[in-house]
Amino acid sequence: MTKFVFVTGGVVSSLGKGIAASSIGSLLKSRGLDVTIQKFDPYLNVDPGTMSPYQHGEVFVTDDGAETDLDVGHYERFLGVSMHRENNVTAGQIYDAIIQKERRGDYLGRTVQVIPHVTDEIKSRMLGITRQGQVDVAIVEIGGTVGDIESLPFLEAIRQLRLELKRENTLFVHVTLVPHLGAAREIKTKPTQHSVKELRAIGIQPDILLCRTEIPLPDEVKEKIALFCNVPKEGVIEAIDVASIYEIPLMFHRGGLDDLIVEYLRIPSGPPDLRAWQAFAERLKSAKEQVVVAVVGKYTHLRDAYKSINEAIAHAGAANGVSVKIDWVDSERVEMDGPPALLGQVHGILIPGGFGDRGTEGMVQAARYARERNVPFFGICLGMQCAVIEFARDVAGLDGADSSEFRADTPHPVIDLLESQQGVSKKGGTMRLGAYACDLEGGSHAAIEYRAAQVSERHRHRYEFNNRYRGTLEAKGLRVSGVYKELDLVEIVELEGHPWFVGVQFHPELRSRPDEPHPLFRGFIRAAVEERRRREGASAAKGVGSAPVKP
Ligand code: GLN
Repeated sequence: MTKFVFVTGGVVSSLGKGIAASSIGSLLKSRGLDVTIQKFDPYLNVDPGTMSPYQHGEVFVTDDGAETDLDVGHYERFLGVSMHRENNVTAGQIYDAIIQKERRGDYLGRTVQVIPHVTDEIKSRMLGITRQGQVDVAIVEIGGTVGDIESLPFLEAIRQLRLELKRENTLFVHVTLVPHLGAAREIKTKPTQHSVKELRAIGIQPDILLCRTEIPLPDEVKEKIALFCNVPKEGVIEAIDVASIYEIPLMFHRGGLDDLIVEYLRIPSGPPDLRAWQAFAERLKSAKEQVVVAVVGKYTHLRDAYKSINEAIAHAGAANGVSVKIDWVDSERVEMDGPPALLGQVHGILIPGGFGDRGTEGMVQAARYARERNVPFFGICLGMQCAVIEFARDVAGLDGADSSEFRADTPHPVIDLLESQQGVSKKGGTMRLGAYACDLEGGSHAAIEYRAAQVSERHRHRYEFNNRYRGTLEAKGLRVSGVYKELDLVEIVELEGHPWFVGVQFHPELRSRPDEPHPLFRGFIRAAVEERRRREGASAAKGVGSAPVKP
């Protein structure tokens, strides 16, 4: 029978509940258990696909084409397994399902209510991910903060599940904040006490508290939290700030978290095998050389918008034995200040995905700079589209070439609406989404990096390379190195004669894992390392000393 670990959060949002849940998952998996994770988001959108990055950060796309919460990305990276649509449930989906049932007449004669109908629907989703009890442990993360009105039905559902599934099959982990007041030099436990009081008022007594803190928690503080929150002292576990999220499973293990979970849940299991985590954390720390890559986008002040790109770059850095500093460059500033001022010192340029025309001219300029100066370039989705637009305008002489997304009346729509998108007017879940096969051209950068003839990558877009221009652009040196055969869609472009210039219509960042860095990210960072060394060599030859960048 599947055991459940329910993860809630208190005091403030952004405590890293998703990473805590993922870390618990990775620890249990490293003890040989079959683990899955599911996130419940209390908002009424059906999925985050229609929300702005300001509201939500990155939208993580799964193989089966679900647009999900960015925590699902952490689940995949920490567990090393692919998630699916059912791993992310929103209040919008719950209410949508209930209203459809009501209209069908499934509840005929009855009043449809939060309890039991909404809570039953929530519970059925939770029980639904256990593969009829085959999964050893299901970790369920409840989004939001305890005390929010909208998360109440979810908390009520997990309260009921404890009664139904019994104590030894369910565990409540509450992630909380224990602030340190610098001026008073005091660690404060009251916010945690209040948050637990709030949980207990709705019938949930946490078993384990994960206490986010900036400084180590002295024993007496742990004892105080234990006493006031009615939790055994060994269940008060410190979650101190660490340099990298990939150290968190190791930190939790040192705090005794996984031992405690298997003891509480009576799961027979041996000690965890954490060698892969240790090796990765070591690789991150031991890098001596540093390269700098620019990410040129329009939400660069909002790191959550490019979460998976950030992680994929870290994985690729570790694989190359270097640390990577990311310069987050606002593409609108590139339009104002010009590329040399902002990109002159970087060893690689990456343009991520995005929507709408704001800032795209800056991206086009960044792509031109990378092409002309032989700087390694990686264009992802919108980034690939901007590189094609740039090439069409400046190399193929197609004046005014553009994407019809940005300029409907462009004389040369080198990027145009996908045929399958013609006539689509609904916005929710209607893009080209999820995994598609991509055939690679032998000998291309892509084929060399992937070491494969066919790969599968995830998509999220409405516009696409316009095949009407393929011949013209190829004749000028743009190489199409990956296609989706079934519909003859261009998925990868490269530049002939450039050290490393790759644009992809898909989102490779979504597939990168710490121990399996994405081949294209690994190649891009390797090219950046070569670029740094080339510049160092060039400046040494000129006798002007080594490059300015130090680890
Ligand atoms: N806006 C572009 C499109 O819809 C790119 C999408 C993206 O970068 N994810 O095709």
